[in-house]
Amino acid sequence: MGASGCIFCAIVEGRASSHRVLESTDCVAFLDTRPLFPGHVLVVPREHHETIADLPPALAGSLFEHARRVSMAVESALGADGTFVAMNNRVSQSVPHAHLHVVPRKRGDGLRGFFWPRHKYASEAEAAAVAEKLRSALRA
Ligand code: AMP
Repeated sequence: MGASGCIFCAIVEGRASSHRVLESTDCVAFLDTRPLFPGHVLVVPREHHETIADLPPALAGSLFEHARRVSMAVESALGADGTFVAMNNRVSQSVPHAHLHVVPRKRGDGLRGFFWPRHKYASEAEAAAVAEKLRSALRA
């Protein structure tokens, strides 16, 4: 039984409708109802987990493998030039059931607004300090 009130659990369990494109023992993929472009797919684990950090490692791997397969299908079946694969975690996440977006891309499709302004590090020392913080968290 999924999390109560979770729309993606309802879709996984067939209590809510969706246009499914792929399903397996641990993941389901279906069309996003408000696509950036037609063929925008969401890939979700069947089990309810909120963010990437909550996913058991094997399930995180499986989720990405499903996104890989969907990404190839989007190119071959819909003639996309490429794809954008993304995941919001807490910030900008409107559905608190982990999901990967697979968005069909065409060169010149105008999706510039999806990208954010980039910033330079103030110095090599600042970049080195940030990298050291991350290395130390990853060692823990
Ligand atoms: P995010 O904002 O990254 O959490 O993405 C959630 C996505 O779920 C949005 O792109 C919505 O359009 C999509 N969405 C919400 N409800 C449904 C639904 N019932 N079926 C399919 N997609 C949905």
